[in-house]
Parts: sequence; structure tokens; C-alpha cells
Amino acid sequence: MPHMLSIIIPLYNEQDNIEPLYAKLDHILPTLGQPYEIILVNDGSSDDTRERIDVLAKRDERVRVVHLRRNFGQTPAMMAGIDMARGHILIPMDGDLQNDPADIPRLLAKLDEGFDVVSGWRKDRKDNPIKRNLPSKIANWLISFISGVHLHDYGCSLKAYRRDIIKGVKLYGEMHRFIPIHAAWQGARVTEVGVTHHPRIHGESKYGMERTIKVILDLMTVKFLDKYAQKPMYLFGGFGLASIACSAFFFFFMLFCKFFLNKSFIETPLPLGVVMFMLIGIMAIFMGLIAEILMRTYHESQDKPTYLVDCTRNCKE
Ligand code: UDP
Ligand code: MG
Repeated sequence: MPHMLSIIIPLYNEQDNIEPLYAKLDHILPTLGQPYEIILVNDGSSDDTRERIDVLAKRDERVRVVHLRRNFGQTPAMMAGIDMARGHILIPMDGDLQNDPADIPRLLAKLDEGFDVVSGWRKDRKDNPIKRNLPSKIANWLISFISGVHLHDYGCSLKAYRRDIIKGVKLYGEMHRFIPIHAAWQGARVTEVGVTHHPRIHGESKYGMERTIKVILDLMTVKFLDKYAQKPMYLFGGFGLASIACSAFFFFFMLFCKFFLNKSFIETPLPLGVVMFMLIGIMAIFMGLIAEILMRTYHESQDKPTYLVDCTRNCKE
């Protein structure tokens, strides 16, 4: 039985793109010889998107539709599609015709080679060079450097995932772009292929430069959760101890100045440093303890294990 594909498309005010996008998908997907479904997520559009995708769903039962109550953003919309998906292979893509369904077979070929995640790389990106492409280049470089997962284009929506990799992933903020990183950290094989990128013809982009900032903040969260989620005290406590050590250093330096250089305490800023670093250090340690309690609540209230099993032998109940 060939693997079933789920194509997942978030849509926010894309009324004029829906018909041509469906036509392209309908041209490519049946030639693949695999069962498929197209999941269209209407992310609270205020134009005609709602009616137009309902028409498609009536016409073709492989088109499945989710209408969200209001506009939640691209990442939650994608998450809604992932939760709905029944396929073994999940392929998210943009609904504005900037991604090309003709690239899907190449993504699938990579999965067949044994990879778990295949990420699209818009080698010749057709967006505003200053406002979009440059910040994105910098962000991509930074993400690659910090995460240690070396891809060129995290922001490209067109990707392909094996279902078991994406199952259980929870997406917040702009984090859909970090799924490959999350997967790689859990032992998945990740690769990328060049994909075509078209300029936007109908409708307009919903994003500008400010997204780069959000992405960088998300990256910090992801990195923190990966390294310290199970032991937040190591980070907070480490910082706290370093701060208390600074305070101690200032304290002894202050005494040295007083007794050997004959400088009174109030003649230097040192007492201020002693108090400040001591307070910051103690607060950081207490914050670490609170974070430890939160982490325990998180894991224990949901029976979340602190490890992930790949497979077992002779261990079935
Ligand atoms: N999108 C969405 N909700 C939003 C913003 C965007 O579902 O709040 C969808 C949008 O319809 C498109 C995809 O996300 O299918 C990418 O959006 P856009 O083309 O605006 O982003 P860009 O290509 O400029 O990065
Ligand atoms: Mg776009």
C-alpha cells in the first residue's frame, strides 16, 4: 500500500489564488500514484476564501477544509492542518502560489532515499530583496549556527515530513520553521532540496521585516527548551552563582582598597556592585528553583517521559 500524502495549506485572504492552486495540485498529485488529501485551512479570512474552498470541497472529496474562527496566524493554521492530517507523509505549503506543487515529487524522492524531513530551499527567491531576503539570509545563518542543523532556508513552507516525526510536535509563535531542527535534535535525518519560488501575483504578503525579530526570539526559546528544559536550574543557578562570585570579588576588592590603598568605601562604586550582584544572584537562583517546579509540573501532570524510545524488541505487553 503506497503511503498516503497530506498536503496542508494555510490560507488567509487568498481568494484569487485558490482556483489556480487547486488546478496545479490536481494536475500533479494524481500522477504520483499515491492516495492523497488536500487540507485547506482558512485562517479567519475576511474575503471570499471561505466560500471558494467550500465549493472545492463539494466538488472533490479529497479536499478537506478547516475554518478557524478568527485569524490566528500561519503557524497555528498549519498546526490545525497537521492535527487533521491522516497521511503518512505531511507536506505543508503556502497557498499564495509562491511554492510550486511541481516540486512535490522531488521532495518525495528524497524521503524515499531514507530521509525523515526534506526542507525546500528557495535558491532564487522572488521577494523584496531588502525588506525580506536580506533579513531572512541573516536569520537563516544565525539559526543554522545556533541550532547546528545546517539548512539554507528554514522559512520555506514547502517541506515534507514523515508522520511519526511531526506527531507530538507543538508549535508556538513562528515556530513552524523550526520543525526540522526539533526533528534533527530527536534523531531524524534531515536534508534539503532546491525548489522553485514564484513572485506573488494575487493578494499581498502578510509579513514584513518585524518577523525576523520574532524568529530570533523564537530561536532563543527553542534553544533554551532544548538545552535546559529538563534542568533549568543549571542555567539560572549557574548565572546566579557567577553573579554572587562577582559580588564577593567586589567585596574583597573593596576591603583591599580600604585597608591597603586607604580609600574609603564611599569613594568607589564598589559597595553598589557588591549589593547589586548579590541581589541579582540570589534572585536568579530562586527563579531557577521556580523553573524547576514548573518543569516537574509540566512533565508529571502530563505523564511526559524525559526520554524518547525509537523501538523495542520483545517488550510488547
Ligand atoms: N497565512 C495564514 N495566516 C496568516 C498569515 C498568512 O494562514 O495570518 C498564510 C498565507 O495565506 C499564505 C502563507 O500563510 O498561504 C504564507 O503567507 P505570506 O505569503 O503572506 O508570507 P510570505 O510568503 O510573504 O512569507
Ligand atoms: Mg507568500
